[in-house]
Amino acid sequence: MMFASRMPCAQCGASVDRAAAEGHTCDPRRWLDFQLLASRTAVAAFDSDLREFLAGKDGRFEMWLAPRGFPSVVEVRALAVLTTDVRYGVPAGR
Ligand SMILES: [Zn+2]
Repeated sequence: MMFASRMPCAQCGASVDRAAAEGHTCDPRRWLDFQLLASRTAVAAFDSDLREFLAGKDGRFEMWLAPRGFPSVVEVRALAVLTTDVRYGVPAGR
């Protein structure tokens, strides 16, 4: 069985020599183009996903909270995840 001597970089899509893959550094512009291309489905679906979320009970609750000055539930949950030490399930830094 023959193996190709080149392979695509998983991060930027550049064709890199297998033997030198460890030393490959992604070109930032190429990386950005590749990442945008890879996420085009999610980007294209953003508007409809947002409309769908806002039409659901969680989205309607968020729209009720926002003009009343309450923080977004989604934002609070994200902050809790970021500040929780996942190893112990306790707030980070404790
Ligand atoms: Zn790369």
